[in-house]
Amino acid sequence: MTVSHILGYPRIGAQRELKKVTEAYWKGDVTREALEATGQALRLSHWQTQQAAGLDMVSVGDFAFYDQVLNVSVMLGAVPARFNAQQEVSTGSVDLDTAFRMARGRAPSGTPAAACEMTKYFDTNYHYLVPELHKGQAFTLASQRLFDEVEEALQAGFTPKVTLTGPLTWLWLGKTKGQEFDRLELLDSVLDVYSDILSRLATQGIEWVQLDEPALVQDLPLAWQQAYERAYHRLQSAPVKLLVATYFGALGDNLSLTTRLPVDGLHIDAVRAPGQVESVIDRLSPHQVLSVGLVDGRNIWRADLAALRERLLPLKVRLGQRLWLAPSCSLLHVPVDLRQETELDAELVNWLAFARQKLDEVVTLARLIDNRTTPADEQRLSAATRALDERRESARIHQPAVSERLAAITAQDSQRQSPYAQRSHAQRRLLALPLFPTTTIGSFPQTDAIRAARRAFKAGELSQADYEARMREEIAYAVERQEALGLDVPVHGEAERNDMVEYFGEQLDGFAFTRFGWVQSYGSRCVKPPIIFGDVTRPTPMTVRWSEYAQSLTQKPMKGMLTGPVTILQWSFVRDDQPRATTCRQIALALRDEVCDLEKAGIHVIQIDEPALREGLPLRQSEWQAYLDWAVESFQLSAAGVSDSTQIHTHMCYSEFNDIIGAIAALDADVITIETSRSDMQLLNAFQDFAYPNEIGPGVYDIHTPNIPDIEWMVTLMEKALEKIPAERLWVNPDCGLKTRGWAEVEPALANMVEAAHQLRQRYA
Ligand code: GLN
Ligand code: ZN
Repeated sequence: MTVSHILGYPRIGAQRELKKVTEAYWKGDVTREALEATGQALRLSHWQTQQAAGLDMVSVGDFAFYDQVLNVSVMLGAVPARFNAQQEVSTGSVDLDTAFRMARGRAPSGTPAAACEMTKYFDTNYHYLVPELHKGQAFTLASQRLFDEVEEALQAGFTPKVTLTGPLTWLWLGKTKGQEFDRLELLDSVLDVYSDILSRLATQGIEWVQLDEPALVQDLPLAWQQAYERAYHRLQSAPVKLLVATYFGALGDNLSLTTRLPVDGLHIDAVRAPGQVESVIDRLSPHQVLSVGLVDGRNIWRADLAALRERLLPLKVRLGQRLWLAPSCSLLHVPVDLRQETELDAELVNWLAFARQKLDEVVTLARLIDNRTTPADEQRLSAATRALDERRESARIHQPAVSERLAAITAQDSQRQSPYAQRSHAQRRLLALPLFPTTTIGSFPQTDAIRAARRAFKAGELSQADYEARMREEIAYAVERQEALGLDVPVHGEAERNDMVEYFGEQLDGFAFTRFGWVQSYGSRCVKPPIIFGDVTRPTPMTVRWSEYAQSLTQKPMKGMLTGPVTILQWSFVRDDQPRATTCRQIALALRDEVCDLEKAGIHVIQIDEPALREGLPLRQSEWQAYLDWAVESFQLSAAGVSDSTQIHTHMCYSEFNDIIGAIAALDADVITIETSRSDMQLLNAFQDFAYPNEIGPGVYDIHTPNIPDIEWMVTLMEKALEKIPAERLWVNPDCGLKTRGWAEVEPALANMVEAAHQLRQRYA
């Protein structure tokens, strides 16, 4: 019999129950008991779902009130000293509120302290809390939660497989604090606790423990490769069976290393890395099981069961009982249940599978290759084949005009008419801006009134005309405020936008939106990514009337505002029937038309935001260049249709771009605005070895805090920038959009910023 299992299930709940209860708990609206009860109910219901679907084991350990990596940190007693939890750690009972304080800085009980850093989990949109590691740190088993959850599952009659972030990936995700040292120095002490955990699980009757080691799909230094061997030899004596789970890519140069680990089984990603399956099997030892992840855990498309069966049959012949089946990775990264999407059209629904549906796919596949199908399996198989055939041929997906336009792209299309040096003269003549021009990143505060108007419009309580009139009032207000502040390049303020990707997706063909397609982003936060299902086109202009209206209110050059192709791609579920690069180019061409229409309407400054450019980088450095090539080309395609005198801006909000500075320069935007204020102009170190050729606005106003930046501070920051970049190429602006701030903070902050620019002009004109 082929074992079917999953690496993890979404924990937020089909109705986002977990989000609602944790947020209520933080506010003090529900008790700890109510919070725990909801957590338990969700776990039970998720196990029930897995068992009812026919999986052979249920996944325990994938639940977390905030983050599964944080859970491991807590379990290892890696609670930074500022949280004052020494007592809790030493008695093996770190409190849930302590974990919440680590995550958010505060909780209903305990003293507030600076939260731990949060960052993206590999190349997903899920954010984990970064373990803090310091030299000589000692670890100890500091939480019983996992064992309680195992007990819960056993009591309820389930067969649990425990899942846990593996020791090396946990260390790999961690950051050293204080004195610099080698994180691997901590490995032995970490392994002591893992050994304890595994022994405890064994006494509870657990047979299988899955240790997630996705670090194995990345470029590992030699010392880390060797540490893998050492660590797993040490854990070999644990009285449980270990399944080392790898996902998000190919093992690559870690292949032999991984297959040599003395463990009872391996899980590999056969969606992202279909080519590695056979070579892994070649190297497997005769007692090891191989869990093949063939159902996509990162995307929402229905699996082609017939094709997968063909793919699996030879593997079954080679592996027999040792073949296991699973989704490629934890289902944390997909929405919960497609059956809730009653408003999506039936044809589209038919092409999709969310977490709940993926369970059925895995189970049916296992039965198909075992020749023990039920009538339900046969029905699923034929329904999948039918749906996939329809999808392949659907006129909603393939628009000949789009492929023809893509095929006709020439190298010329991604190049501006003249190089920057020449364009800048044309722009200076047309725009007549002062030295150190001031601008903002696009959005102004999204007030309660704006949100209420949008809700009323969506609910049908406000007519289209009334809604648009309301938004025009907001735009007029934002423009008037900017005039009063004396900003040189005003924006319309983005009042009409719900979200920077959704707003465009809703107006483009080829995009669909779900009602409940929530995916956990971090803690209680969820995002609802659009689904790009078909060729992308722009039926009508999307932003032109707003920008035109805003321009009509001022003599200053109004900046038009668009979200770039890479960011739209990156924050959506994308097609799996063509390369990402192709989809990105399609979006780019749609945006190119918008850019040209803005220019025609008299908008001579146009910003194309690309905050997600960096996060699209592949996990392996060897694949970076290929990605950057098409990402940069896509941006250029969207921007390059305008004349020399139209100024193209872009914006990115992260400070670590030293390693992709070449690609950022290759975008050839006339002006780039970036985040720097928090990192004290460290960003500009990137310009030490690389002379950034165009104009740049290093963000001097940190919009992530409510604090009003003072004038002197901003002048000092700009003077640091002046050490690397001449005054003629510097802009003065905040480091990101202002939508999360209130007017009461924004106005004095911008007034100071404008004053800082004046002082700079006096000093350096
Ligand atoms: N133009 C957008 C805004 O100002 C940019 C948002 C972002 O950088 N994420 O809100
Ligand atoms: Zn930003």
